Amino acid sequence: MALSYDVIVIGSGIGGLVTATQLAAKGSQVLVLESYIIPGGSAGYFESNGYRFDVGASMIFGFGDQGTTNLLTRALAAVNVSLETIPDPVQIHYRLPGGLEVQVHRDYDKFLQELTAKFPHEREGIAQFYGECWQVFNCLNAMELLSLEEFGYLMRVFFQHPLACLGLVKYLPQNAGDIARKYIKDPALLKFIDIECYCWSVVPADMTPAINAGMVFSDRHYGGINYPKGGVGQIAQKLVEGLEKAGSEIKYKSKVSKIIIENNRAVGVELATGEIYRAKRIVSNATRWDTFDKLLGDVPLPPKEQKWRQNYRKSPSFLSLHLGVGASVIPPNTACHQIILEDWQQMEDPEGTLFVSIPTLLDPDLAPSGFHIVHAFTPHWVDDWRGLAPKEYEQRKEEAAGRIIQRLEKIFPGLDAQLDFMEVGTPRSHRRFLNRVDGSYGPIPQRRLWGLLPMPFNRTSIPGLYCVGDSTFPGQGLNAVAFSGFACAHRIAVDLGF
Ligand SMILES: Cc1cc2nc3c(=O)[nH]c(=O)nc-3n(C[C@H](O)[C@H](O)[C@H](O)COP(=O)(O)OP(=O)(O)OC[C@H]3O[C@@H](n4cnc5c(N)ncnc54)[C@H](O)[C@@H]3O)c2cc1C
Repeated sequence: MALSYDVIVIGSGIGGLVTATQLAAKGSQVLVLESYIIPGGSAGYFESNGYRFDVGASMIFGFGDQGTTNLLTRALAAVNVSLETIPDPVQIHYRLPGGLEVQVHRDYDKFLQELTAKFPHEREGIAQFYGECWQVFNCLNAMELLSLEEFGYLMRVFFQHPLACLGLVKYLPQNAGDIARKYIKDPALLKFIDIECYCWSVVPADMTPAINAGMVFSDRHYGGINYPKGGVGQIAQKLVEGLEKAGSEIKYKSKVSKIIIENNRAVGVELATGEIYRAKRIVSNATRWDTFDKLLGDVPLPPKEQKWRQNYRKSPSFLSLHLGVGASVIPPNTACHQIILEDWQQMEDPEGTLFVSIPTLLDPDLAPSGFHIVHAFTPHWVDDWRGLAPKEYEQRKEEAAGRIIQRLEKIFPGLDAQLDFMEVGTPRSHRRFLNRVDGSYGPIPQRRLWGLLPMPFNRTSIPGLYCVGDSTFPGQGLNAVAFSGFACAHRIAVDLGF
């Protein structure tokens, strides 16, 4: 007989784990089924030769200790666990075309001064643009962030914070570019705002929702960027610890192959091994494409999902270099996160923008003594890696790695000679290990949309089935998927009467 739970969560990404822990904390019996051997998905890690590498995320929002937007701190606390974090004094050091270099300091005034020094004629526009982002953030940070699909919550929050709510309604259909162009005229500065958005939304400012921009551009100075001691993988590990302490379960190496539908309702899941588990509610933390095309293979795509696909497409995946390098090549005052772009025309192209993280600058214990970790990654499409013979695949990896190392050499001379370890991940690796369609970073708008309005919440057209994670409101990033987890758990708790 199939085991039965209140809620089954397919996948243990941060969105899935926050949903599961929130529900477990309310007394639900939750089962999380994860196909990989550890939790975390794109916030996971791997270890090799004494190094511990983050597979994806390493610039972490949501660990502040005040306000309501510190969702990772809150998610851990809800299940009585916590994590030591290390404050990052600089969010990003941009190295941009034309020799433009800007550091985004944790200290807001210091950042504004630095940017204004590069664009003195735009002093007012800079202050107005980022000032309006603060208005968005202050609205969000005034209220408890739960499910916008729950009428009772909406009413309660509206009566508690009417001005903040009206502010958010105003910004929901806007994009960051709309706000930037109101105040800023200099094309080079508008390009800078583009990459400020692109580096987390993977689209330029005109297509980046104002709500997300308000969050990112303000919280980095409010709660700040904080790196979890022991690596990003600790977040998921701690959430699992809390989940189990609260009496719920996670099973690894448990790939769900099918969501079971009876009388048009999601009632359970079947694993690749044939095992069956049933629950009152099913949550998918897989991407929307994986959920509707693979896990619900026989069910015709609901019209709402068809509409969603007209609005959103898959972003590219990444080519990732995980390097171990001699410590002497990284000067001690280097910023942990760097973004390198040589030509504005190539910002969105494969191998255009190069993202670099050196987390050992914050937590040296992630590498053997005398070495640093460098994770360098850049967008790449899975299509360029399909159908290759093994030898050709290896050769292409080597060539791509060579090009990236050449770019890194310009900033960190001697890096190539000081290489101690290298692992190259392609979009195929992302697809396989992160279990994401085409290895995609997540959904991006097909064209300019009305801000965040078309992004779906957690309920789906299939009764009993919910989605959580980066293909639901409000999108990619650990704090964003944590938001979606809080919202999903809240909606389910109301539906189940917890
Ligand atoms: C290279 C890279 C760098 C990034 N940098 C940052 C950053 O600096 N800061 C930041 O905030 N964000 C960053 N992100 C984005 C962030 O990591 C993601 O948006 C976020 O982790 C996605 O979380 P999620 O809950 O949607 O699920 P995922 O992380 O996608 O997890 C889903 C989980 O579900 C499991 N799963 C899927 N299908 C099944 C199935 N059928 N059966 C069982 N299990 C299944 C998967 O194995 C996976 O563990 C980065 C991402 C990448 C790839």
